[in-house]
Amino acid sequence: MTAQPIVVVDRISKTFPSADGRGSHRALDEVSLTIDPGEVLVIIGPSGSGKSTLLRTLNALESFDTGTITIDGVALADRNTNLNHLRAEIGMVFQHFNLFQHKTALENVALPQVVVRKRSRAGALERARKLLDSVGIADRANHYPSQLSGGQQQRVAIARALAMDPKIMLFDEATSALDPEMVGGILDLMRKLAQGGMTMAVVTHEMGFAREVADRIIFMDQGRIVEQGTPEAFFSAPAHERTRAFLDQIL
Ligand code: ADP
Ligand code: MG
Repeated sequence: MTAQPIVVVDRISKTFPSADGRGSHRALDEVSLTIDPGEVLVIIGPSGSGKSTLLRTLNALESFDTGTITIDGVALADRNTNLNHLRAEIGMVFQHFNLFQHKTALENVALPQVVVRKRSRAGALERARKLLDSVGIADRANHYPSQLSGGQQQRVAIARALAMDPKIMLFDEATSALDPEMVGGILDLMRKLAQGGMTMAVVTHEMGFAREVADRIIFMDQGRIVEQGTPEAFFSAPAHERTRAFLDQIL
């Protein structure tokens, strides 16, 4: 039996009103893609090309105007779909961590398990300790986010997402806000997750990571997927002028 894609995005478009309220801006323009179980999809493209909007539509943080998204066989736009149930299956890691500031690292990882997954407090705490250990910050369990470096906060955020046992993990520029010396450690964690078989969609400007870890790379520009391919094909022979221009700038 061939595995079905876990994510199917079919011709979704999304328009935002422009800032002056007089016009509109198409952030996503007929975007279609699939993600297979265990696949690592890396999404790259210039600022404003729609990468974050695309990730945000995948876990229903953002609505879309037309098209369909199906996650593990469940249609997002279906009125019967419980979006909170669906979101619990999708871990998301943001550029700015988005931790609960008034909770310790341990509580950040434990609480969502109790609230969303209805686990016992003791069970959630035990799992949280294990996860903090696995992301390398067991010794920071009782620190508040303000007492942690950016890299440590991002480790907590990753542990928190993993605590939900998500079917897929979304990373939106997870290393862009970090001091340079913190970036490698977070990329190592992401690489470990990928090697462990996690299904991932990763927006990043880290081309070394993309080349090494991606199964497939998508290049977006102006709300569209301009091209996609294996890292080898993508970096050695990009088919489109816009892709070449972007890679020339960034590499
Ligand atoms: P990227 O992540 O590739 O930088 P985004 O998905 O954040 O791009 O944005 C795509 C386009 O949609 C941009 O032109 C951006 O200004 C616009 N946009 C994104 N979010 C909003 C919003 N909430 N309201 C209005 N415009 C938005
Ligand atoms: Mg973005």
